[in-house]
Amino acid sequence: MYDIIVIGAGPAGLTAALYALRADKTVLVLEKGTFGGQITYSPQIENYPGFATMSGNEFAEKLVDQVLSQGAEVEMETVTEIRDNGATKTVITEEGEYEAKAVIIATGVKHRQTGLPKENELVGEGISYCAVCDGAFFKGQTVAVLGGGNSALQEAVLLSEGCEKVYVIQNLDFFTGEARLVEKLKEKANVEFIMGTVITEFIGDKSLEGLKLKKEADGSESELKVDGLFVAIGLIPNNKAFADIAGLDEWGYIDSDESCVTKTAGVFVAGDCRKKQIRQITTAAADGSVAALAACRYIDSM
Ligand SMILES: Cc1cc2nc3c(=O)[nH]c(=O)nc-3n(C[C@H](O)[C@H](O)[C@H](O)COP(=O)(O)OP(=O)(O)OC[C@H]3O[C@@H](n4cnc5c(N)ncnc54)[C@H](O)[C@@H]3O)c2cc1C
Repeated sequence: MYDIIVIGAGPAGLTAALYALRADKTVLVLEKGTFGGQITYSPQIENYPGFATMSGNEFAEKLVDQVLSQGAEVEMETVTEIRDNGATKTVITEEGEYEAKAVIIATGVKHRQTGLPKENELVGEGISYCAVCDGAFFKGQTVAVLGGGNSALQEAVLLSEGCEKVYVIQNLDFFTGEARLVEKLKEKANVEFIMGTVITEFIGDKSLEGLKLKKEADGSESELKVDGLFVAIGLIPNNKAFADIAGLDEWGYIDSDESCVTKTAGVFVAGDCRKKQIRQITTAAADGSVAALAACRYIDSM
């Protein structure tokens, strides 16, 4: 029996483990893929306080080492269910099951991808899913944003501050995001909308050099030279397995307030998989510490 099981070894889960260990709790971290989480895809982080620049892998390695040195147990397993037994929880994985007094879900999100060939090879080489994270690398350059919802429009606003030219490519003939943001973009001389259009191919092998485009209405094709593409066609939270125990909102995020408590006593949530506005390492780490300390308080009051 563990005091706390943390599901997911991204910045939120690892920070939760760190805080719980330092409060003298026994902790098991279960991770299905990459220790460090999404941030390992980032070649450069420049917005984490205290570090001018570092790679995602460098950050992840340091965090994993720190958590291991505090005595965390870790297993590479995919969690498929959490069962509530009242005072204890059973965490079921594809390989077996574990018992704990409290569980912290920190399973993050997946960025919806275009699914086009070469996309994964070009991530960090021109293709990004986060303008807040990577926009500064394209200062003075030409970029495109793919998508027409609020995230895409907000990314375009942000990019228009530093990039020479920003194209917004949307498959529909209208935007699904807020009119206020559309109006704001229309006022910008360096922003151009490409409506009713899809990307059919990424040009470039080692880095992104351009996009092949197709107009939905007449099938006409063209090429667009860009230095970067920001894909903003949605996020998919990794929460399906926890719908019953934690409660999801309409977008699939775990509904909780700032205290990271879910609808089930003893089940907490931290990081990008939680319903919130800003998804960054800083906010993931903040959630991790809040969730861990809430879980410790819950255990101590049992
Ligand atoms: C390319 C890229 C660049 C970025 N750059 C920056 C940046 O510069 N600055 C910044 O602040 N943020 C950046 N971000 C965002 C940042 O990475 C995330 O906000 C942060 O990683 C969220 O942490 P998390 O722990 O909540 O989730 P994640 O990092 O997503 O970690 C969740 C972990 O849970 C695991 N998991 C999921 N489901 C299960 C399951 N069922 N069982 C077991 N394990 C599971 C996943 O494999 C994953 O490792 C970037 C993101 C990307 C993709």
